[in-house]
Amino acid sequence: MNPTPRISFYTLGCKLNQAETAALQNAAEKNGYRLVSFREPADVMVVNSCTVTNRADRKTRQALFQARRRSPDGIVVLAGCFPQVNSDSSTEIPGVDIILGTRDKFDLYSAIADFKKTRTRHVRISSVDNRKRLSSAFIAATDRTRAYLKIQEGCNNFCTYCIVPYTRGNPVSRDFDNTITEARELANAGYKEIVLSGIDIGAYADSGKRLIDVLRALEDISDITGIPGIERIRISSIEMNTLSDDLIKHIGISTKIMPHFHLSLQSGSDVILKSMKRKYSTADFSTKVETIRKYIPEASIGTDVIVGFPGETDALFEETVAHINKMRFSYLHVFRYSARKGTPAANMKDQIPESVKRQRAKVLNNVDSRLRRSYAVSFYGTTQPVLWERYKNNLLYGLTPHYIQVQYPARINRHNTISKIVLDKNNIVF
Ligand code: SF4
Repeated sequence: MNPTPRISFYTLGCKLNQAETAALQNAAEKNGYRLVSFREPADVMVVNSCTVTNRADRKTRQALFQARRRSPDGIVVLAGCFPQVNSDSSTEIPGVDIILGTRDKFDLYSAIADFKKTRTRHVRISSVDNRKRLSSAFIAATDRTRAYLKIQEGCNNFCTYCIVPYTRGNPVSRDFDNTITEARELANAGYKEIVLSGIDIGAYADSGKRLIDVLRALEDISDITGIPGIERIRISSIEMNTLSDDLIKHIGISTKIMPHFHLSLQSGSDVILKSMKRKYSTADFSTKVETIRKYIPEASIGTDVIVGFPGETDALFEETVAHINKMRFSYLHVFRYSARKGTPAANMKDQIPESVKRQRAKVLNNVDSRLRRSYAVSFYGTTQPVLWERYKNNLLYGLTPHYIQVQYPARINRHNTISKIVLDKNNIVF
């Protein structure tokens, strides 16, 4: 009897990409494969690529090279954003057997089957335009507690630094009924938390239903079916302009939607925001944050910031630092600007030297550490429900509703359950 073929995955880039890999991994067994680590030899090795930065391009090539070296006779697959925008150079990379674009990667298993018949290089890169609906309904999970439910894809905001509109195409929303059916299946399968994901989920629109309708329907699932199902719903990240006041109010009264917002600021300078073609000013952003705090005073508000965007002088960077301090975010994700070929910002003058970008990132990373600590400390002495996600060396690890990481000593594994603990300096993971 032939042993079950092994498949491994390597993922670069954003959370959506991670979620999409997890979806493909979930389908491995059904398609007759055994999942193994990317560090081991395998019969099929998939690199789910990213092209958001030059570094991501480099890492994609390195991962392909490693895969080929590790398994000289295996099938090497390059999938996702890199081939979608670099179709010519993708086909020139030696040792790659199958190339699949951002839409086509969901046909992974049929592409492998086709390749096995012919053993000739197989390239499928469909246009990302004109999609009416998401073609592949899929789920993904980091483990058995949390599932990423993709409800939207694509973006047409064309921020000047971003390659996403070129790699993932126009916005398209998932069928509403199909979304809820899948969420119900996730509840049945025992998932406790659903993270709604997409590129611009606030832009969700299907048959007159908006994001708030999806949330309401998800909240009702266990009430209708009686399944002790989804206990937590989290919004992965949302553009400030599409986060309506009604939505904030609704989250404020919901017992299931977590009081956690990831709102990308990108810069705290109005000059830079304009040059980035972001559709808000720092004043708009402040107003939104005030509205969140009005309805949900202790909400977790995290953000993304790009340092070293073309034209960012020391004075403009200082404006960003000042604005961040004013917003009192609960955490920052700091990115150094990286020029992407094909985007308007790549051709802007006044590109910033790498050394300056590194220095600015260091400044903001220090701000991030301080903000995380002071936000977490504000919960000392409070009782919080924690969804336990991991158990190792007699310690449980999990997240509070406000996205604070905690650990707790336990003799038994209470993975995938929720229990309340009092937060203090010993159980918060900084
Ligand atoms: S909103 Fe801007 S940064 Fe976000 S995906 Fe769309 S173009 Fe890119």
